Amino acid sequence: MAALAAPRMQVGDVTVEGLSDGLLKTSVDLVLGMDRAQAAQLVGSADGSVFIPVNNFLIRRGGKVIMIDAGAGNTMQPTLGKLPANLRAAGVPPESVTHIVMTHLHPDHANGLVDDAGAPHYPNAEIVVHETEAEFWMRPDAANDPDRVKGNRARTRINLKPYLPRIRRVRDGEEFSGFTPVLAPGHTPGHTCWVLAAGSGGGFMAFGDVVHLSAIQITHPDAALTYDLDKDRAIQSRKRILDMAASERLAIAGAHVNAPGFGYVVRKGSSFAFEPAG
Ligand SMILES: [Zn+2]
Repeated sequence: MAALAAPRMQVGDVTVEGLSDGLLKTSVDLVLGMDRAQAAQLVGSADGSVFIPVNNFLIRRGGKVIMIDAGAGNTMQPTLGKLPANLRAAGVPPESVTHIVMTHLHPDHANGLVDDAGAPHYPNAEIVVHETEAEFWMRPDAANDPDRVKGNRARTRINLKPYLPRIRRVRDGEEFSGFTPVLAPGHTPGHTCWVLAAGSGGGFMAFGDVVHLSAIQITHPDAALTYDLDKDRAIQSRKRILDMAASERLAIAGAHVNAPGFGYVVRKGSSFAFEPAG
């Protein structure tokens, strides 16, 4: 079967390919700091339920095949876990992935690292993750940690087990193959945006879960989500990253930004708007 072209965005000399893991069913009931009816209206949903994409991205660079995040695997909903098949359909065998740059280690980004038996989907890949994120999810539980954190830690041990000899923990200011981590904590303690300078053509930012519901949180960055471990910090980070993306005219790729998942953040009044690319 001929490879299907993935949606792509050109930023200077960098080509970013969008690869879907599928759709995640969620609800505006998870939105905090906004009237429910307004939230439902913004996402265009009569009953408040909404499907958001789980996007992953691929960048080929200097002989490396670099993927951003790894999807949910078969652990969450039957509409997810499509990434390995979509990679193959795009002509990219999972074995050819050399690096997986993680925005954070939540289930919909990291559970797809392994199959149902715990074997790696990407047997030749090194995991690149901010040291703060790795440390938080790999440390032993404290007695007063929330059950949700304990559960995610237990799952992180499964996700990372086959990759343990190949985990690259990156510090602030340290660069990996042109990618510079920009810590954007709150959603998780080490949630990270990754900025890649793109020759003379500006820059690219993988911005992970800076927004979950892109129809709401780009125009209303004060709206938080119950998934955020530290909501106030997540709001601060969101505003700072949206401001940075607009000021520096960075092309952004968001894990849950509506298809095709990439474009530009622009200022609109005292807030922001999104211009899809392509
Ligand atoms: Zn997510």
